[in-house]
Amino acid sequence: MSAETRHHQVAVIGTGVSGLYQLKRLIDLGVDTLALEADDDLGGTWYRNRYPGARFDSESYTYGYSFSKELLDEWHWKERFSSQPENLRYLNYVADKFDLRRHMRFGARVETLAWDEGERLWHLGLSGGETHTARFVVSGIGVLSVPALPSYEGMDDFAGESFHTYWWPKEPVALEGRRVGVIGTGATGIQVIADIADRVGELTVFQRRPNWSTPLNNSPISETEMAEIRARYDEIFANCAASPGGFEHTPDRRGFWNVSREERIAFWDQLYDRPGFAILSGNFPEIFFDEAANREISEYVAGRIRRRVDDPRLAEKLIPKDHGFGMQRLPLETRYFEAYNRDNVHLVDLSESPIERINEGGIQTRAGHHDLDLIVYATGFDAITGAFDQMQIRGVDGQLLGDKWRDGPSTYLGVLTHGFPNLLMVAGPQSVSGSTNFPRAIERGVDWVTELLEHAFAKGYSRLEAQPDAEREWVEEVVRVQEGLLLRRSKGWFTGYNANVAGHQEGKVRYQAYFAGAPRYREFLEKAAADGYPRIEKG
Ligand code: NAP
Repeated sequence: MSAETRHHQVAVIGTGVSGLYQLKRLIDLGVDTLALEADDDLGGTWYRNRYPGARFDSESYTYGYSFSKELLDEWHWKERFSSQPENLRYLNYVADKFDLRRHMRFGARVETLAWDEGERLWHLGLSGGETHTARFVVSGIGVLSVPALPSYEGMDDFAGESFHTYWWPKEPVALEGRRVGVIGTGATGIQVIADIADRVGELTVFQRRPNWSTPLNNSPISETEMAEIRARYDEIFANCAASPGGFEHTPDRRGFWNVSREERIAFWDQLYDRPGFAILSGNFPEIFFDEAANREISEYVAGRIRRRVDDPRLAEKLIPKDHGFGMQRLPLETRYFEAYNRDNVHLVDLSESPIERINEGGIQTRAGHHDLDLIVYATGFDAITGAFDQMQIRGVDGQLLGDKWRDGPSTYLGVLTHGFPNLLMVAGPQSVSGSTNFPRAIERGVDWVTELLEHAFAKGYSRLEAQPDAEREWVEEVVRVQEGLLLRRSKGWFTGYNANVAGHQEGKVRYQAYFAGAPRYREFLEKAAADGYPRIEKG
């Protein structure tokens, strides 16, 4: 241990939504905790994703923290689906209100984590060479924090500006009158395209596969409405806790086939106009596992797209044909499809004319050249496990976590992984954090980790490690649930797919998230805690 190495009882990695709350809980307990943040300020996802159109697609008042009544009473969400600048202001407000900043270190990228069995602690190596040790490490590194760029020839030759949406600059980016190309039509691309379509000179969308997308139906929240929301917070959070997705929307359990087709259509007409994920989370659960039910809802949503796009040929290109509705993470949009009715918006279908290379002036596809001033890469993330792979994490006997997880993650309850003692993951792989309303899941995750740590402190344990059998059984549960769903082979980040990331391409199924819903997941967590964590080796 070098002279400069500082020791902490707990090191938290990340100061996004998870890290902030984890820090708050530990500080309240009087635990010596340091939060290490790679960026130069707090906020995680909401610090980074500054692209135009970035906003919640969870209702703002279900996304905010629930742990402090005072905070709930003070904060006014101005929009049902609040935008990135406001969300970042909120997280800063939380950090300042609870005086968390002084426990954070910015520009502190953890590059290595090495387990020291003799001392029972983790050695943390930072990018600048600084070192720390901690008895316990809690990761709050997010599920979508490692952006993935494609590897087209000539990307560096482009003379204009270009960046991944995650790295959208803090400084204003000129859009007016410029020729902008957007590559990617996931939730991010869809938000960007809809937001900038009427602000840029020409907008060319490079679409490889279309995504299903339905209206966000955003609206402002007045003082009066906010007062009503505040009065209802207990009920709101109870509703979220009871629903699989962690939203206020609850599945319709009348039975898809017990309801006439006319009634289903009338029901979907209502859902389509409701805010947020109602059409997904408030729908019949059968759409997720019954192919005929999924075909019908897909055809319904396709019909809505056809009604919104003037050119029928273009409409067909915007309708997914290779996967059903809800089989990949659903992007929500605001006048996205109408953007294509504008004369300055052009769709390039990469399935017909793939990108051949990027050059100084723009993008060359097989069909022709597109002159551009700005290229926006909305090409997704090395999701869920990417941020773990980015650090070199060596556990017992020097085993690399990246090696252990080469073919996909393996965890106990999404929180621990055998061979890596005292490493506790919030929003870890095979938890529900990625697949449900994020803060609702992480609050539960942080509470569970904190209670486990309290238990360890009270009993004087200095080592916690998941039993291999417990981990095997949890992975079996994760696999069983995913295999029962139509999304099991989907080409989306939920199932670990990203064509830009080695080992995550087509044909490699990964079991990265638990899809049985938040209430079921919570049952496992609660039982483990109530039983005194019997599947965790303690010493
Ligand atoms: P994504 O869903 O993974 O989408 C990436 C897009 O880029 C896909 O359309 C993909 O096409 C395309 N792409 C990737 N490589 C390409 C290449 N080489 N050439 C052409 N196209 C390429 O990523 P994302 O849109 O950033 O969204 C990720 C997740 O972030 C979302 O699902 C959501 O959970 C979260 N998010 C949330 C919000 C919000 O409202 N709160 C907003 C944005 C994002 P293929 O499908 O063909 O691979």
